[in-house]
Amino acid sequence: MLHVGLFIRLFCHSPCLLVIPYMHPFTLVFIAALAISVLLKAWLAARQLRHVRAHRAAVPAAFSGKVRLDAHQKAADYTVAKTRLGLAQSAMEAIVLLALTWGGGIRFLAAFWHGALGVPLLGGTAFIVSVTALLGALEVPLALYRTFVIEARFGFNKMTLPLFIADLAKQTLLGALFGIPLIIAVLWFMARMGAAWWFYTWLLWMGFNLLVLAIYPTFIAPFFNKFEPLKNEPLQARIDRLLKKCRFQAQGLYVMDGSRRSSHGNAYFTGFGKSRRIVFFDNLLKQLEPEEIEAVLAHELGHYKHGHIYQRLGLLFALSFLFLWLLGVLSAQPWFYLGLHAGAPSDAVALVLFFLVIPVFLFPFEPLFSLYSRKHEFEADRFAARNADAGALRSALLKLYRDNAATLTPDRMYSAVYDSHPPAPQRLARLQNTAGSR
Ligand SMILES: [Zn+2]
Repeated sequence: MLHVGLFIRLFCHSPCLLVIPYMHPFTLVFIAALAISVLLKAWLAARQLRHVRAHRAAVPAAFSGKVRLDAHQKAADYTVAKTRLGLAQSAMEAIVLLALTWGGGIRFLAAFWHGALGVPLLGGTAFIVSVTALLGALEVPLALYRTFVIEARFGFNKMTLPLFIADLAKQTLLGALFGIPLIIAVLWFMARMGAAWWFYTWLLWMGFNLLVLAIYPTFIAPFFNKFEPLKNEPLQARIDRLLKKCRFQAQGLYVMDGSRRSSHGNAYFTGFGKSRRIVFFDNLLKQLEPEEIEAVLAHELGHYKHGHIYQRLGLLFALSFLFLWLLGVLSAQPWFYLGLHAGAPSDAVALVLFFLVIPVFLFPFEPLFSLYSRKHEFEADRFAARNADAGALRSALLKLYRDNAATLTPDRMYSAVYDSHPPAPQRLARLQNTAGSR
């Protein structure tokens, strides 16, 4: 091994004025990974900003006559504003992460709760809740800015400050209601179940996810929105025909008052078995013609018929198995705590460190997840084109892109990394081909 002194003498000509403080190797790895991910995000954002601005002056040829210049320019400005906010957010997250690890935030909070409550289960739970609350509180200013500045500037925001506060209170309450028992159970497993605790935690986590999915439509979603059965008979008849053709049984068609918060529109499937239902945002029903609504629904049915929901659930279970195993390994390594300046090892500290630090190392995989998601979108579009009218889906998508001010000219690289849905040009071109080949 090359001696450090020799290394410095080889690379610094005398007199060597640079004094490098000692840094744990894992600290170096972590800070390097964080720096790389922040720089990559900044580079991608800069590309996106440049590309969208460069194409702002004219509607792309493929959309001329279909999209007005003012709508195209609004989409460009909206994209620029959102991209800049995203950039500020990732810079802020990196600073908070450094403060919590390198800056000793975790060490301080863990020692405080250990001193105040002593008992590992109680002190550990209080510590995890305090870190979560701190991270949540830091997100509030960004959410306020997004809603009341950016969304409002482009005419999308329908949210009032009292509604924002009520939502926040409900989210915090639900988070505590579900999260605190989960934290207590996991800490108990870590303390009592020996080396295989992560496996029991995985079983618990699967059960928890299935429970949330099952009760979301009937128990959680109504906390935030009103759901009313669809009462439009011609549309209902049209939808019934489609459902019969696709052999799909839903437990009901509902309209959600999405317009209370925003003028963006959407449709989705939710729930399992008996709680399975189709939900339309009220905005969507206002913006689209009946045949377009049918085509959008056919796309959602495509996700279901291709088993995308179960595939994603399977992926979630496989990945959580892998990550909980990894957490089991890391939580037993002294360097994991030392390298992240976290003070004395404990179960609660291991959990917090893991969930803070792992996303930094996962950023390079983001393009794979986005690719996987876009593949599903293309499959659902193909299903819709076969079972409903491809032309109606195209015109529905065009209206949705316009009404949501989605850019028609994203940067290729930015889109490949982040876009869970294919950008408009690709998606509409594929649908055109599908329709042409029928
Ligand atoms: Zn979709």
